[in-house]
Amino acid sequence: MENIFEIVTIKSLSDNYIWLLRNNVKNLTAVIDPSDDKDVNEVLLLKNWHLNQIVNTHHHFDHTNGNLKLKNKWKAELIGPEEEKDKIKNIDSYVSDGDKIEIAGLDALIIHTPGHTLGHVMYYLKNEKILFAGDTIFSLGCGRVFEGTMHDMFYSLNKLKELDPKTLIYCGHEYTENNLKFALEVNPNNKNLKTFSKKVYKLIDAGKPTVPSLLEDELECNPFLQTENDEISNYFDKDKLEGLELFSKLRELKDKF
Ligand code: ZN
Ligand code: FE
Repeated sequence: MENIFEIVTIKSLSDNYIWLLRNNVKNLTAVIDPSDDKDVNEVLLLKNWHLNQIVNTHHHFDHTNGNLKLKNKWKAELIGPEEEKDKIKNIDSYVSDGDKIEIAGLDALIIHTPGHTLGHVMYYLKNEKILFAGDTIFSLGCGRVFEGTMHDMFYSLNKLKELDPKTLIYCGHEYTENNLKFALEVNPNNKNLKTFSKKVYKLIDAGKPTVPSLLEDELECNPFLQTENDEISNYFDKDKLEGLELFSKLRELKDKF
C-alpha cells in the first residue's frame, strides 16, 4: 500500500538539505527551503510530481535561492515568514507565529523561532509528528545566532520542549558529525549521547544522511537543550551555570570549535 505522505531528502550545495513533502492522497507536493531549483526539478520530473508550494523557514540564500525559478516553472505558491518579507522576494502567503496553514494538504502550525534570523519560523505538522526546523535546531546542535540575541535563540529552542517527543526533526544542514564532537567534548559521560553517537557513525559510514533526528533523542543528547546539565555546567565553571547563561557559554564556544 502506498503511504499517505512521504518525504524525499535532497542534498544540495555542500551540506544543505532540501525537503520534498508529498501527499499521495491529495496529489500535492511542497518543497521546503530550496537552495537550488535544479536539484528539486530532477526529483519532481523523475517522480512525475507537480510542485504546488514552496516553503521558506528564513531568508538566507541557501534556503531560498531556488524560489523564483521553481515558482515560475510550476506556478507554485511561495510561503514565507511575514517578518522577512523585505528580504524574501515574491512571497504569496505570509506566515507568523501561531498561524495554521496546510502544506501539501497537511495541517501545519507556524512556530516563530528568532535567533538565527529575526523572522525565522519552523513548520510543525503535529498529526504526522514532523518538524521542518530550518536553521534553528540541528542534530546535536543549533543555528548560529546571527540576527537575534542569545536570549532569542534560547527562548526559541525551549519551544521545542513543548512538542511531541516522537517528532522527527527535518533540519536545514548536515552538521551532525561536528556537532557530535562538540557534544562529546562538553558532555563526555552522557550515556544516551554515547549510544546516539554509534547510530550517527553507522549512518555516516554508510554514506547516509544523519537526519531527520528524533526530538526525544535531541532532548537527551543535544547540549543546547541540556542547560540544566551539571556535567556541562562543570565543563565551564565550578559554580553552577544554567539556563540562558549556560546556553550562551555553549554557543560562544561552539562558534570557535
Ligand atoms: Zn541560515
Ligand atoms: Fe542555512
